[in-house]
This record gives sequence, C-alpha cells and structure tokens, in this order.
Amino acid sequence: MDAAAGPAPHLHPDIAGFWSSLDHGQLSLQRCGSCETLRFPISPNCHECLSSDFSWEPIEPRGTVNVAIQAHEAVSKLPASGISLSEPWRGMTPYLSGVVDMDAGVRLPGRIVCRCGDALIPGTEVNAVLLDAAQDITIYGFLHECETTRRTK
Ligand SMILES: [Zn+2]
Ligand SMILES: [Zn+2]
Repeated sequence: MDAAAGPAPHLHPDIAGFWSSLDHGQLSLQRCGSCETLRFPISPNCHECLSSDFSWEPIEPRGTVNVAIQAHEAVSKLPASGISLSEPWRGMTPYLSGVVDMDAGVRLPGRIVCRCGDALIPGTEVNAVLLDAAQDITIYGFLHECETTRRTK
C-alpha cells in the first residue's frame, strides 16, 4: 500500500518466524503446542502453561480498535544524551497508533492507517495489513476502511 515507509524493527532470532510470516504475506502468531493458547507478546514460553512448544499460525486479520492516539509531532529525545528517538518518524506525522482487539482473541499494538479519523473511536473495525518499513522489511499495521481503495498490494 502507499503509506509512507516507517522505521525498520529490531529483529531478534527468537522471533524470526514472526518476521518470515510477514515476508510471506501472513500475520502469524504462536499457538502453544501444549495448551493451544494463541500467544502474544511473542515469547519462548507460554504465559499460560510455560510450555516451550509452539507453532506459527496465521491469524484472521479482522479486529476492532481498543484505543488509538494521533501523533501530531515527533518530539521525543533521550533526556541525558539529547539523541532523538523520533528521527525515523519525522515526515510521517500525523499518524495513528493504537492497540487492536483481534477477532482471533489477542490484543495487538500497531500503526493504524486512517485518513478520516474514525479509527480513533474505540470499537472501529480495522484489518491487519502488511506495510513497508525501512530496509525493505515488511511490518504489520492496521487499515481502516476509508483507506481500502488506496491499497496497492
Ligand atoms: Zn500453553
Ligand atoms: Zn478512516
């Protein structure tokens, strides 16, 4: 889709399966191999039964906004160093960020692409989609229906 590319995520080998699922066009999460809990945040052990057994499972992309905010300015700095944390986000404001209650039963954080502003209202339906980040990395985010016709892939 045509949303501006955001900064690239930090990739850790323990969660390589998550990123490769995105590369293959799916948003997948861990399904516990012991108690079958769908797990998030991604973790080496199940938060319900502590099992380390899991498989990656594509989830339904539908969800509803739990809470969302609109960032109007990228202004944060590390207090002591003066290093700007917001540098990658310059030029992307305003943008929406929030957490979405997925129909699959997990709550996921992410950027929400919406021009009309309705995605700021809790309960608004959004769909998980794949977005481009820097360094040719694919991330997930959420798309409100006002942007559906703007998808290019
Ligand atoms: Zn479990
Ligand atoms: Zn919208």
